[in-house]
Amino acid sequence: MLFLKQIRATGFKSFADTTILNFTKEMIGVVGPNGSGKSNITDSIRWALGEQSNKSLRGSNMDDIVFSGSVGRPAAEYAEVTLVFDNQRDIFSTLSTDIVEITRKFSKKNRESEFYINGVKCKLRDIQDIALETGLTKSSIAIISQGTISRFAEAKPDVRREIFDEAAGVAKYKKRKLETQRKLEKASDNLLRIKDISDEIGRRLPTLKKKAEKAEKYKHLAEELQNIELAVLAKDALTYEVELEKLRTAKRSLEIKTEKLANEINLSQDELDVMLSKSSSTDIEINELNSSFQKIVERVASLKTQKQKVDSKESEKHSEANIDEIKAINLKKEYDEKTISLHSEKDLVASFEAQEKEAKREYDQISDSFERIHLKRQEIESEKNRLQFKLDDINQRARTSSISASSGAKNIIENKNRLSGVVGTVESLISVKEEYHVAFSLITGNHLQSVVFKTDEDAKKAIEFLKRNNFGRVNALPVSTLNPSSIAEAQKQVIKKAPGFIGFANELIEIKENCQVVLDYIYGTAIVTKTFDDAVRLGRSINYRYGIVSLDGQRVMPRGAMSGGSVSKATNIFAARRVDESINPETIAKNIQTLNNLYEDYQKEFNALRESREKSSVKIQEIMSNIKVSKFSITSLESNLEVLSENYKILTGKELYGDKNVSFSNESESIRISREIAKLESQRNEISVKLNILSNSRTQNSDRQHEINKDNKEKRNTLNEWKDTLASVKSDLNMMENTNIMILQKLSEKYNLNLDAVRQMSFDVIENVEQTRARILELSMELKEIGDVSIDSIEEYKGEQERFDYYDVQLKDIQEAIEKLESIIADIDIEMKTQFKKIVDDVNAALPEAFKKLFNGGTATLIYTDPDNILETGIDIDVQPPGKIIQNINLLSGGEKSLVALSVLFSILKVRPLPLVILDEVEAPLDVANVTRFAKYVREFVDVTQFIIVTHREGTMENCDILFGVTMQTKGITKIVNLDLKWDVIKKLLKN
Ligand code: ATP
Repeated sequence: MLFLKQIRATGFKSFADTTILNFTKEMIGVVGPNGSGKSNITDSIRWALGEQSNKSLRGSNMDDIVFSGSVGRPAAEYAEVTLVFDNQRDIFSTLSTDIVEITRKFSKKNRESEFYINGVKCKLRDIQDIALETGLTKSSIAIISQGTISRFAEAKPDVRREIFDEAAGVAKYKKRKLETQRKLEKASDNLLRIKDISDEIGRRLPTLKKKAEKAEKYKHLAEELQNIELAVLAKDALTYEVELEKLRTAKRSLEIKTEKLANEINLSQDELDVMLSKSSSTDIEINELNSSFQKIVERVASLKTQKQKVDSKESEKHSEANIDEIKAINLKKEYDEKTISLHSEKDLVASFEAQEKEAKREYDQISDSFERIHLKRQEIESEKNRLQFKLDDINQRARTSSISASSGAKNIIENKNRLSGVVGTVESLISVKEEYHVAFSLITGNHLQSVVFKTDEDAKKAIEFLKRNNFGRVNALPVSTLNPSSIAEAQKQVIKKAPGFIGFANELIEIKENCQVVLDYIYGTAIVTKTFDDAVRLGRSINYRYGIVSLDGQRVMPRGAMSGGSVSKATNIFAARRVDESINPETIAKNIQTLNNLYEDYQKEFNALRESREKSSVKIQEIMSNIKVSKFSITSLESNLEVLSENYKILTGKELYGDKNVSFSNESESIRISREIAKLESQRNEISVKLNILSNSRTQNSDRQHEINKDNKEKRNTLNEWKDTLASVKSDLNMMENTNIMILQKLSEKYNLNLDAVRQMSFDVIENVEQTRARILELSMELKEIGDVSIDSIEEYKGEQERFDYYDVQLKDIQEAIEKLESIIADIDIEMKTQFKKIVDDVNAALPEAFKKLFNGGTATLIYTDPDNILETGIDIDVQPPGKIIQNINLLSGGEKSLVALSVLFSILKVRPLPLVILDEVEAPLDVANVTRFAKYVREFVDVTQFIIVTHREGTMENCDILFGVTMQTKGITKIVNLDLKWDVIKKLLKN
C-alpha cells in the first residue's frame, strides 16, 4: 500500500537544497555510503510528524536540525519538511482529504516550530494526534533498526514484553492505570489525612458535646432566669417606686404634722405660762380694787350714818313746822339728793363713755396688729410649705437619680488615705465628649458612683470599712479581677461597616489611670450609632446580640427590647454640676428653720394679740353695759326729780327752784354728805366695772387655761401616736429603701439598666409572683450546681460537629472514589490482560509461518515466563531452528538471533499492520541466502504496508520496487538520486 507519497525537505540537516523524494512504489530501497544522509530521511519524517526530543533526532538542540553549512555553503536560516500522504484509505480518520500534506517549519531566528496540515497552520498537538495514526510515533516496530533487532533478541523476558505491550496498545492502559494509581495514591493519602483530622475531631467531640450541652443547659436556664428575674426585678422596682413614694409622702406629712403639733403644744404652753403670770397680776389688781371698793363701801356706810344724824338734827329744827311744811322740806331734800345722784351718774356716764372710746380705739389698734400678724404668719407658713416642697422634691430627685451607694462612695473617697488602692469614682475618672453625654447617660446606669479599686483585696477592705462604720454601700470595680464581656473581633469588623456606626462604647470615651478594663466592663458590649434607625438596623443585622444606643438616647437592648422617647436635662448625668444655692438642700433646710423660728415668734405675738383683743372686747362690753345701767339710772332720777318737783308744787303751790337751776351754794351738811356719798358711789361703780372686767378676764383666762390644758393633753396623745406611726413608717421606709437599692443595683450591675430604662421597657407578664420568685431561687441553685461553663463551647461544638460531618462526607466521598479507582484499575488490568493475551496469542498463531519463512523451516513459540501473572509476566521465545534443538535463544548466532527477532517483529506486523515501516539496515548481519529470503518475505506485506528500507545489501536492493541513491556529491550536502535499479550506477554509488 502506498501511503507516504512524497518527502520535501529544505534546510533540514544535510538537505541544504530543497530535496524531493517521490515514492511511487510500496517497497522503497534507500542506498548510499555511510554518512551520506540516509538516516536523515527517517529523521525528517519523524521531525515533520512532531518529534520533540532532540536526542532521538540525534541533536542537542533544535538548531541542530537546521542545515549548519558546509565548505562554500552557508548555514540555512530555517528547516522545512513536508510529508505528502495518500489518505484514500482514511488512515487519518479525522481528515477527509485523499491527500494529506503535513509541514513543519523551524526558524533559527525565532526558535519556533510552525505546523501546517494541508497548508493550514495548526498546533503541535493537532500534528501529534494525527501522527499517532501513522504508527510512526507510537510503535517501535514502525522504525526497525539493527539496534531494535539486537535489543529484542537479547533482552530479558520482562523487557521483551514491552514490544507486545506496545503492540497490544497496553501502553495507553498502563498510562491510564498509572494515572489512576496516582489518583488512588493521592486519594489514599487524602483519606489518611482526613481520617486523622476526623479521628482527632471525633476524639474531642464527646467531651466538647458534654461541655456544650452543659453550657446549653446553663444558657437556657440563665436565659429563663434572666427573663423572669428581670421581669420580677422590674416589677419590684416599679412597685417599690410607687410604694416608696407613698411611704415618703406619709413620712413627710407625718413629720410636718408632728412638728406642727409639737409647735402648737409648745406655743400653747407658752401661752399658758403667760396666762398664769397674768392671772396672778390680775388677782393682785382685783384684791387692790376690792380693798378700795370695801373702803368706799365702808365710807359710804359711815357717811350715810352721819347723814342720818345730820338729817335728824335738821328735822328737829323744823319741829314747829306743820306737816305740809315738813313734807315740803323733805321733798326739797330728796330732790337735792337725787339731783346730786343725777349729776354723779352723768359724770359717771361721761367717764364711761370716755373709757369706751379709749377701749374701742385700743381694740381697733389690737385688731389691726392681730390682722397684720395673722397675715404675716400665713405668709411665713406658705413660704415654709413652698420651701419644704422644694426640699422634698430635690431629695426625691437625688434619690431616684442615684441610689444610696453614692453615700458609700462619698465615704470611701473621703477616707481614701486610710484605705488602700482607691483609684476614684468612675465619675471622677472618665471624660465623655459632650456629643456623647446623652447616649452614655443611658448606658452608664448607676456606675457613675461606682468606685474603682486596684485589687479585689482593696475593694474587700473598703466594703468591710463601710459595713463596720455603717457608712452606706458601694459598687466596687477592682481593676485586677474585672472580667469584661466583649464583642468578638470578627463581629466587630462586620459591625464597623454598618451605616451610622459611631463606635464601640468602650472605645469612645477616655479613662485615667490605665483603667481601660473598667470601660470594657461597663461598656464592653455596647455600640453607639448616629440615629435610632441605625441602631434598629444594626440590631437586626447582629441578631440583637449586643446593646446599641443612638446619640439622641434611644436604645436597642440585647435580645431585641427597645427603650427610648424624649430626654430631659435631668437625663444628662454628665452635665456640669452648677452650684445653685436656690437648689441647695442645706440652704433650703436652713431657710426653713429660720422661717420656723420666725413663725413661732409671730405665733406668740398672734396669741398675745388674740388675748388682748378678747380682753379689750370684754372691757368694751362691760363699759357699754355700765353706761346703759347709768343712763337708765339717769332717766329714772330725772323722772323722780320731775315727780318730786310736781309734788312740791302741789303741796306748796310754788315752784321748787323756779326757773333757776338748783344751787347748792349754801348747802346743808346733809347735802354735802349726800354729794360725797354720790361721789364715792360713782367711784365704787367705776371700781366695780373694773372688777367685773378683771374678774371676767380672770374667768376667761382660767377657762382658756383649762381649755388649753385639755387641748394639750389631747394633742400630746395624738403627738405620741403620730410619733409612733412615724417611727414605724421610717423603719418600713428604711427597709424598703435598702431592698430597693439592692434591686436597683442588681438591675444596674447585672442588666445595665436604670429605673428610667425600666420604665420605658416592657417585660414578660408575671402571673404568680411568689411562684416566680421560687423559680428564680430554683434556677439560681441549678446554675450554681452546674458551675463554671464556657458559653463559647456551644459554638465550638457546633463548629466542630459541622467539621466532623464535613470530613465524614469527605471520607465517604474519598472512599467511594477509591473504590471507583480500584474498580477502574481492575477493569484496566482485565483489559490489559485480555489485550496482551490476545496479541501474544495472535503473534503465536502467526509466528510459526514467519519463522518458517525466514529460517526456511523450524518453528518458534512465545512463552509466558509467569503464566499466572499475565500483567507482569515476561515473554520468552521457544525457538526450534530447522534441525536444531535449542534450549536458550542466547545460544543462537548473531544472524540467527536477528532472524528470530525479525520473525517475531514481522509476526506482530502481520497481526497489527502499520501503513509505513522503515527498516534501517536490519538485515545487515544476515548471510546472502537469508537476506534474499528476508527481502522476499518483506514483499509479502506490501499490500498493507509501505516499506522504506535503508540497506547496503544487494539481496534487499534487488527485491525493492525502487531505489533511491543518497549521495554527497557536494561535501556536506545530501543529494537523492532515483536509481531505477541500475546496478552499475548502484555499485558505483556504493563504492563512493
Ligand atoms: P550510515 O550509513 O553510516 O548510517 P547515513 O547515510 O545514514 O550513514 P546520516 O546519519 O543520515 O548518514 O547522515 C549523517 C550526515 O548528515 C553527516 O555527514 C552529517 O554531517 C550530516 N548532518 C547531520 N546534521 C547536519 C546539519 N545540521 N547540517 C549539515 N549536515 C548535517
